[in-house]
Amino acid sequence: MLAAQRADAAAVGQDASARAVHVAADEELRRGSVPDLDENESAPAVHRDVLAFGYLDAMTSEKRRARLLVVDLDDTIWTWFDAWHSSFSELLRVTSELSGISTTELKRAIRPIHQRHGTSEYSWLLDELDQLGDLVPAGTTVAEYFDPALHAQNHARKVTTQLYPGVRETLTYLRDNGTTVVAYTESLAFWTRWRIQQTSLDGLISELYSSPDHDTPDGVDLESRRTLPSEEYELHSTEHRHVPAGIVKPNPSILQQILDDHAVPASEAVYVGDSVMKDVAMAQRVGAIDVLAAYGVKTNDPRYRLLQDVSHWPDSTVAKEQDKSPGVHPTPTLVLSRGLSDILDYVAFGRTVA
Ligand SMILES: [Mg+2]
Repeated sequence: MLAAQRADAAAVGQDASARAVHVAADEELRRGSVPDLDENESAPAVHRDVLAFGYLDAMTSEKRRARLLVVDLDDTIWTWFDAWHSSFSELLRVTSELSGISTTELKRAIRPIHQRHGTSEYSWLLDELDQLGDLVPAGTTVAEYFDPALHAQNHARKVTTQLYPGVRETLTYLRDNGTTVVAYTESLAFWTRWRIQQTSLDGLISELYSSPDHDTPDGVDLESRRTLPSEEYELHSTEHRHVPAGIVKPNPSILQQILDDHAVPASEAVYVGDSVMKDVAMAQRVGAIDVLAAYGVKTNDPRYRLLQDVSHWPDSTVAKEQDKSPGVHPTPTLVLSRGLSDILDYVAFGRTVA
């Protein structure tokens, strides 16, 4: 069953059948098999109806058409918040145990450091916490003394960084379909490259647009913190295109640049992200088909409070994200509730390069 056919079946309105089709299609995609519907006697009834009554073309024609997919990464493609929360919690817990400083006091000291560096996953956080420097024995660095905290953080990050279900299958389908998939993230290049490698997405994303790393403190040699040869940290198939630092979503200039680089008009481009305030607003500003990855939204999660407590965002941005008043945030045009593969229910993707 082809994904497009699955999507058409879902659009017929037979919810239970459509759901069954969805599950079956997902399973087939997972297995990598794409059986020919005509030869598949066990095809769900809804498909036979669709084909018999000639609905397939009608349903396809109701879909939007596009030939470029641009995606946010964190909490759209992979589980960023879950990984951040578990890894940062571990860092806090072990640092507090080793230092005797309460987590409340640590959080209070951490936020200005995050704000100074424009990121909430600053690699040299412990080095810049003044409270810790005095506790370290002579001849030992902060990083060495608090290595158990860094180790706990890295371990938690590794086991909790995962693709959302259906992402790999959807990106594989699009690549095989000739549709270019571009990623645009505000996150730091180092950790973004690490996540692409960790989730084996190198090559499934055609290009990554992000700022160069800017979180290395003066006097710290990045290579000194790396345990593998530098080429191990590079992407091999996904092209990394650097964009100017300091431009944050919903500023539309980078997304517009992506469209221009691919010679695709906004009306034929889809942008998917998990933030209404940033992703949806940005896509609407350039006129792309804006899509909310609702399955990745974490702002109502009780654990989100920890991120707010130490966020590099200004207070006004943190408050606006939580503001549910009418008119504060745009209404997304399309909403994906189950996963990225839902996009195939709404959009018929064509080849990016004719
Ligand atoms: Mg995101």
